[in-house]
Amino acid sequence: EAKHDFFSDTTSGRASSSETASTTPNDGVEDGLRPFLAKAKGHYWYTTTGTKILDACGGAGVACIGHGRKDVMKAVASQMRRYSYTSYAHFRAQPVVELEEFLVESTGGKMQRVYLLCSGSEAVESSLKLAREYFLWVGQPQRVNFIARWESYHGASLGALSVGGHVARRAPFEPLLQQGRFGRISPCNPYRQRLTNPDGTVESDDQFVERKVAELEQEFQRLGPDTVCAVILEPVVGAALGCAPAVPGYLRAAKQVCDRHGALLILDEVMSGMGRTGSLHAWEQEGIVPDLQTIAKGFGGGYQPASALLVGHKIAGTMKKEGKVFTHGHTYQNHPVVAAAALKVQSIIRDDNLLENVRAQGELLGRLLKERIGEHPNVGDIRGRGLFWGIEFVRDKTTKQPFDPTLQIALQVYKTAMQEMRVLVYTGQGCAGNGKGDHIMIMPAYNISGK
Ligand code: PLP
Repeated sequence: EAKHDFFSDTTSGRASSSETASTTPNDGVEDGLRPFLAKAKGHYWYTTTGTKILDACGGAGVACIGHGRKDVMKAVASQMRRYSYTSYAHFRAQPVVELEEFLVESTGGKMQRVYLLCSGSEAVESSLKLAREYFLWVGQPQRVNFIARWESYHGASLGALSVGGHVARRAPFEPLLQQGRFGRISPCNPYRQRLTNPDGTVESDDQFVERKVAELEQEFQRLGPDTVCAVILEPVVGAALGCAPAVPGYLRAAKQVCDRHGALLILDEVMSGMGRTGSLHAWEQEGIVPDLQTIAKGFGGGYQPASALLVGHKIAGTMKKEGKVFTHGHTYQNHPVVAAAALKVQSIIRDDNLLENVRAQGELLGRLLKERIGEHPNVGDIRGRGLFWGIEFVRDKTTKQPFDPTLQIALQVYKTAMQEMRVLVYTGQGCAGNGKGDHIMIMPAYNISGK
């Protein structure tokens, strides 16, 4: 393929849309970051000037079966021909019911109830509210607090942003965020936080987990253990840390702390769930079952904006036994077209045995990344699971000193990958704490091949 100046795409795109350029001068087009897209097919994006770009990140970790699948389009169109919308309060929609059944079954019945929504943030907001309402139902109204981690992202709306610990994304809105209800603990990121023991040995996984979980226990004690509704955790931290899996045993130990204090565990699997890490639900690899689970991204694969809140036995059982109804709803909840798309995407993942491919190709990807760039003086860490890999860049490999944030190193890598290699990767900042530190994420579709 002939070399092509990538940024000329944006120039020609902008010229054909002077209105966009003049009304939104800082929308990224000026910087050459967002070329006009003509189409997307399989694992590739195509710009209006014909540049073909490999999608190595599914956009924002979304396009899990690739782009332009006719079978999904057909399922969506066929649902639209029947009806394209109904208010969930008035009718039951067949694809929604089928999708709920699919999800419950996919957990072996461990999760029992489903709320079908349209974004990860909605699912997280819903999980926080349902946790709170559950404790009203069971006569514990004093439970009003949540515990989350720094350097975890849980969404953009004010509740989700308040509970989240993504410093850079919180910063402009700090005065608007709910203060006081959200206890916070440090991330579980061994690259930056594993300590050296007094005898000079490096902290083992068990010691690391013990120390991290002691911090969680301390936070419960600080807030008052019987005031905590829930702890919310990403099983593999996505945007805020760049694919940092929990150290083995961490999630299980955190669940035990929650259980001991009668609090709920919410697992935010918006990014790490629905197959991304090699099992449909990330918690399957951890030997635990959450009380509440959020999913999105790979759930609908980008064919429709699909997300969901999954509800475990404890809460679903109370709702059933006592006839309780969650005081919550969205206009587009249980959207039939969203359900039709997600159902089809999920049936493709199942029928094409794509999780096996995620595991095999994920292992290959991780190995190749480590072999080929692991020794680079500015590559601090390569981490991940399944087809969910992050690369953290550092100024100094020995001291792990991050780059000056104003250099925007991840963005430079992004631009270079795009210009030189025609590859789209996902950029992030924040893995060294306090908004510092750079990473990129690689999240190809589940049907990618190494050939
Ligand atoms: N939770 C996690 C773990 C996420 O990664 C994201 C988005 O990246 C969200 C929640 C918010 O999802 P959305 O952007 O769909 O609102």
